[in-house]
Amino acid sequence: MKLQDRICLITGAASGIGKAIASRYAGAGGRVVVADLNREAAQAAADEIKRGDGKAMAVGMDVGDEEQVQAAVDEVVAAWGGVDVLVSNAGIQIIHPIEAFPFADWKRMLAIHLDGAFLTTRACWPHMKASGRGGSILYIGSVHSKEASMLKSAYVTAKHGLIGLAKTAAKEGAPHGIRANVICPGFVRTPLVEKQIPEQARELGISEEDVVKKLMLKETVDGEFTTMEDVAEIALMFAAFGSNALTGQSLVVSHGWFMQ
Ligand code: NAD
Repeated sequence: MKLQDRICLITGAASGIGKAIASRYAGAGGRVVVADLNREAAQAAADEIKRGDGKAMAVGMDVGDEEQVQAAVDEVVAAWGGVDVLVSNAGIQIIHPIEAFPFADWKRMLAIHLDGAFLTTRACWPHMKASGRGGSILYIGSVHSKEASMLKSAYVTAKHGLIGLAKTAAKEGAPHGIRANVICPGFVRTPLVEKQIPEQARELGISEEDVVKKLMLKETVDGEFTTMEDVAEIALMFAAFGSNALTGQSLVVSHGWFMQ
């Protein structure tokens, strides 16, 4: 099995893309840590994996809180002895035009996406270094790590920033076999996106159907949503890849919405 007994900590894994990655990793033999702000939902997701014969534990953490991140990683290390794979996935969306973007919302967005990626990386790093097995760090970016959309200034800024963090982590991690990469999905129908559809329709004065067809999927090659399973499969490929040949990269999975 590709991730046999690897300890894989996934943030925001109580829902959506993170949950799908947790389940895929468990199916590949990984020991999965479901980390989420919502501790109860994290426990439910971990229990679901265990019922399917996978290995899982749940921890609560707000990824933007230094002490909570450190305490949760310490809890994992005390229980299982280390961390081999980190998937920094927790994220939210807040949209406003720039001229009306409340500063508090801006800071909240950067805290979850960027502080969260940095704090979880820093907390897991010494354990990846000490194990002698190296490690794999994956940031869940977005097509918005490469492209912009109206109303999403904070999200686009944060998602672009993850690429800079991954490239730096790739350089600093190489001597220790720690790899860092970014997955950039197109639109995936998770609770995060379901919430955005009516919000964007309201802000732009168009129908929800038009938000999907004319905004979200307009530039894809086939008008299709990317699925959680698509993203989970790529996340498995990155986590299981065994050398520094694949590091500092960002891979777009978006039905051709963005091509490079
Ligand atoms: P989701 O809303 O289904 O799940 C997000 C999870 O993150 C939830 O369980 C939530 O409780 C958790 N979370 C939120 N804030 C947190 C915090 N401060 N600390 C810890 N956990 C927190 O969302 P999703 O669509 O699965 O998104 C997951 C990631 O994928 C996000 O980073 C998002 O930006 C990215 N992404 C999503 C899409 C998409 O179309 N859905 C596309 C590209 C990238």
